Amino acid sequence: MSDDCIFCSIVAGEIPARTVYETDAVLAFLDANPLSPGHTLVIPKAHERRVADLDAALASDLFDAVATLTPAAQDAVDADAANVGINDGEAAGQEVPHVHVHVVPRFEGDGGAPIHAVAGQRPDLSDTELDSIADDVAAAVGE
Ligand code: 5GP
Ligand code: ZN
Repeated sequence: MSDDCIFCSIVAGEIPARTVYETDAVLAFLDANPLSPGHTLVIPKAHERRVADLDAALASDLFDAVATLTPAAQDAVDADAANVGINDGEAAGQEVPHVHVHVVPRFEGDGGAPIHAVAGQRPDLSDTELDSIADDVAAAVGE
């Protein structure tokens, strides 16, 4: 637990939240400033700042909860679809420094955008550049 973390305070019951799901390792609650009805945040109870800080067991527990919550949130508000995403790091828009998965129910014709809209202008990468990037990522992951 981090003393100055709003999501740790929710886990500790120190500030209220509309909790919708809980396991030993994971908590899910409605976003206080929703992008759509049913917008839900799924978090590890442990204070982990970034995706890279999750160990395999916690990552598995978190994604299990996301797989449960995504259809549940969607059904609860009669949505047609959902976006699932993480702002991982400040440059990507992370404001609360405690990993959280956004589950955002979506509706036909709601005027929103796909997750492809998050990164600004698309780069124009050559095949050589794509090959090089693929090699670098594979090397970074230990392939
Ligand atoms: P981020 O930009 O870090 O990915 O998203 C943080 C999210 O947390 C925002 O969507 C914001 O509305 C939500 N949020 C911030 N403070 C609180 C809070 O105290 N309670 C709840 N339920 N959601 C919060
Ligand atoms: Zn925290």
